Amino acid sequence: MVGFDTKLAAVVGDKTAKALASTLDLHTVGDLMRHYPRRYIQRGELTELSSLREDELVTVVAMVKSVSKRSMKNRRGSILEAVVTDGAGELTLTFFNQAWRERDLRPGRTGLFAGKVGTFRHQRQLAHPEYEMFPDDAGDIREAAEKYADEIIPVYPASAKVPSWLIAKSVDVVLQQLGDPDDPIPAEVLRARHLPGLAEALHAVHRPKAIEKAWAAQHRLRYEEAFVLQTELARRRVSTAALAATRRRATPGGLVDVLDERLPFELTEGQRRLGEQIAAELDTEHPMHRLLQGEVGAGKTVVALRAMLAVVDAGGQAALLAPTEVLAQQHYRSLTALLGPLAQRGMLGGSDIGTRVALLTGSMGTAARKETLLDIGVGDAGIVVGTHALLEENVQFFDLGLVVVDEQHRFGVEQRAALAAKSRDGTRPHVLVMTATPIPRTVAMTVFGDLEISTLSDVPRGRADVATHVVPVGEKPHFLDRAWQRVREEVEKGHRVYVVCPRIGDDGDEPAAAEDEKRRPVAVLELAEHLRTGPLQGVGLEVLHGRMPADAKDAAMAAFAAGTTPVLVATTVIEVGIDVATASMMVIMDADRFGVSQLHQLRGRIGRGSIPGVCLLVTEAPPDTPARERLDAVAGTRDGFELSQVDLEQRREGDVLGASQSGRRSSLKLLKVMRHVEIIEQAREDASAVVEGDPDLARHPALLDAVEAVLAEQEADYLDKA
Ligand code: ADP
Ligand code: MG
Repeated sequence: MVGFDTKLAAVVGDKTAKALASTLDLHTVGDLMRHYPRRYIQRGELTELSSLREDELVTVVAMVKSVSKRSMKNRRGSILEAVVTDGAGELTLTFFNQAWRERDLRPGRTGLFAGKVGTFRHQRQLAHPEYEMFPDDAGDIREAAEKYADEIIPVYPASAKVPSWLIAKSVDVVLQQLGDPDDPIPAEVLRARHLPGLAEALHAVHRPKAIEKAWAAQHRLRYEEAFVLQTELARRRVSTAALAATRRRATPGGLVDVLDERLPFELTEGQRRLGEQIAAELDTEHPMHRLLQGEVGAGKTVVALRAMLAVVDAGGQAALLAPTEVLAQQHYRSLTALLGPLAQRGMLGGSDIGTRVALLTGSMGTAARKETLLDIGVGDAGIVVGTHALLEENVQFFDLGLVVVDEQHRFGVEQRAALAAKSRDGTRPHVLVMTATPIPRTVAMTVFGDLEISTLSDVPRGRADVATHVVPVGEKPHFLDRAWQRVREEVEKGHRVYVVCPRIGDDGDEPAAAEDEKRRPVAVLELAEHLRTGPLQGVGLEVLHGRMPADAKDAAMAAFAAGTTPVLVATTVIEVGIDVATASMMVIMDADRFGVSQLHQLRGRIGRGSIPGVCLLVTEAPPDTPARERLDAVAGTRDGFELSQVDLEQRREGDVLGASQSGRRSSLKLLKVMRHVEIIEQAREDASAVVEGDPDLARHPALLDAVEAVLAEQEADYLDKA
């Protein structure tokens, strides 16, 4: 009997083991057992040859149509050419100096052919393919006849040196000797979910007797992947919940209540409900770890502010971390505006129960910085807004009770940990993560699995419509003139207009145009110049991009908000958080250069007040190209969740979960987070129950092993992204 840890050499022999190790990274019996077939071929079924793509490593089933032999023109030797067919398409197999293969490749016979797809004289070909012929009617290959008789043939991810059927052979040898492996999924879960055990699933996935058995086995193995992952995440939630935090409760008649009175609008139902949930969590002795996701403009800032004020009410401090300086400034401005006298304690007209808001950024002068650090250190500043500068060691809080992280995707785990380390007495601050990049539930449950998730789904009432149009300047160049005319009209109505470009154009470290490009993408500086002297002559126009000094950026934003320069030509620095209620129009140049989610974020900058907005996606991408389809999708809906689905579907699984998942050794082989929603939800539920009853997994050794194996493989890389 062999087990998962047994080296393959001991089972399949040195030579095969070496080939499996060097080309497919398979070393142990467990590695091979987890190397699942990519698909299955039913005997008698031919592969559609027209679907093959150049450079693809393929395994196909086809029938030999003809064979010919000729000698080479310029040197000695012969070429054997066999044409195989699926009945419609054809593929040429070429062999040099191997005329004897004619005996195998007789017309009318069917077999498996594997190799890399190439093209020669406009014909698809496999040069020197590996092949294995099925028995023909004469039954001349008895061994193969038995092996392939009415069977389903697994097709494995293979390499040029190790074809699929060689892997299948090794798998057969292993399956014959494999003992009953310990199942990471507890028996009661198997029963409840009607899943086959591990041994049964492995036999069925590799050697299915019927195709339905293979599907059932895949389902079980997929579930196992989700279950092991969710077990680890459940353990993290449990250990986080065991950490100590200070209880923070708003005082009646305190800052939160006074703010609510002051707000120029009614809180939405969602804002109110979430506020209660957060308030309850802040009032416990364990740190809150919550992800707050909500559509752009859903009003997350107010939710965060109310949480921060509750902490200040209770004598603590709150930090708001923004990914960029522009955003930190913006948050600082909008918080102080919302707070009014509540942010002016100790100043004339300030409220008695008020507090102070401090802004700490990297570009501050030394004197201002010193003073701010002092305010933070003695606790005078109840709310501290900042960029990563907040994470530096010399920033000491008096009593940090809550960290709000805006736009999670720009912040890593190290940053979060650094801030967590800033609280007193070994307690942890509560953490609220906000993101406007909507994350489908299952991705959130996988990537941000150790956070509790809330969604703010109702957008405040009175929010205006935004109409989005694709402007196809490739086909209709004059549409662009019309667009600039429209910009002028918006400005005349007293509104603001963003013009977004993919490039700055200061010839900094920007890449040159690729060889196949007709031109470089539109640049901020160039377009601004063109508009000033041409289509928008006489209209106030300013630029904004990431390489401007901080005070220049600030001045540009202020002039834009005030209306001095109602047109802002910018890069994606405006992507997140910028909030100018009078902005009604956005023109995005070379829109196909941006991702779906990014376009959605950008568009979120307009239609924030009651003025209807218009967003123009300018592109040269021809109709019916994927780029154009993406833009059409953005124009077609304002639902961020729908768009993030489009976005994620276009990416590979590895990109969804982070780089560490894209490797061949990834623990997620069958599970697709975008597709297997139900499995992930069930696994999460089951894993939570198991961990609740057995936090150390002492009674589930096989599960513990599986969890540790996953962690070792990935070094918890992507799990830690949250
Ligand atoms: P986001 O969720 O994108 O961060 P913000 O918090 O910046 O959204 O809110 C967008 C705009 O909506 C702000 O101008 C804010 O003052 C306003 N707002 C927030 N909540 C409400 C509400 N309940 N009713 C009306 N306007 C609101
Ligand atoms: Mg925001």
